Amino acid sequence: MYDHDLLVVGSANADLVIDVERRPAAGETVLGSDLAVHPGGKGANQAVAAARLGARTALLARVGDDAYGRLLLGSQRAAGVETAGVLVGGAPTGVALITVDPSGDNSIVVSPGANGRLTPADVRAADGLLHASRVVSAQLEIPLETVVEVVRNLAPGSRFVLNPSPPRPLPAEVLAACDPLIVNEHEAKVILGEAGGSGEPEDWARLLLAKGPKSVVVTLGGEGALVASADGVSRVPSVKVAAVDTTGAGDSFTAALAWRLGTGSSLAGAAAYAARVGAVAVTRRGAQESFPTAQEVDALCG
Ligand code: ATP
Repeated sequence: MYDHDLLVVGSANADLVIDVERRPAAGETVLGSDLAVHPGGKGANQAVAAARLGARTALLARVGDDAYGRLLLGSQRAAGVETAGVLVGGAPTGVALITVDPSGDNSIVVSPGANGRLTPADVRAADGLLHASRVVSAQLEIPLETVVEVVRNLAPGSRFVLNPSPPRPLPAEVLAACDPLIVNEHEAKVILGEAGGSGEPEDWARLLLAKGPKSVVVTLGGEGALVASADGVSRVPSVKVAAVDTTGAGDSFTAALAWRLGTGSSLAGAAAYAARVGAVAVTRRGAQESFPTAQEVDALCG
């Protein structure tokens, strides 16, 4: 019996957002809107997305002993995430400085801060949490060696899900543990390098699978997703919605998929559910604010 359906190991950032008429050139100052501060970071987002769906969720992360760290802990707790694994101190909380111009284009500077100090030793110290979790998910906004340590400390029988964002080449040991590896088009291309070439998403899915994961999911935005395993490659259609803001679509999709796999869904079934979750998320603004409850997912799709 597991205490948690899902343990998310990953980043927690404060997103500091200012709307600007245009971005400043070097040496220039421009005035922008009032500052908006949002809880973010892929780990924190995925934990909130899963908890909002009803998954018993825990987060292993590191924040600073500062106001942003307290903001992030508060948003996790408000969503019902178990935060005993959120370590405090060692560096300031991770921050993303985001400017948005009138066309909606972003410029972002990230200071990883405490996320960069989540160490392999922290993972070993959280052994109890890892062993109490049915599914463990990670992303790459924390050090890669920390993700390697997660893979080495998985409980027998638990399942590992990786969203390699931001993408970088992955060691064979990490690839082999993924069930699934979840990538968007950009991440697929970076991980495949030249091997990806000018192929179609189906080709990327097969090539990624050949690198060692037990299964692969390629997300394709409004086009849905592809799932690939030893059983073959199949397409999961998206749900047609009027998208207003795709921020957090990938995080909500990954969290929903990881949770559903732990409840015994097939890969295709979990991806179909995750596509419904992603579809609701894109009809609302923001990241964590946009993540639906299970009832809202059911209401969208019957
Ligand atoms: P992001 O980085 O913006 O959070 P991503 O690139 O990691 O997202 P996407 O492929 O854009 O991930 O989206 C994940 C899933 O969400 C898609 O596979 C799809 O099921 C759903 N989704 C995304 N955009 C739309 C859309 N416009 N309409 C319906 N569903 C969508």
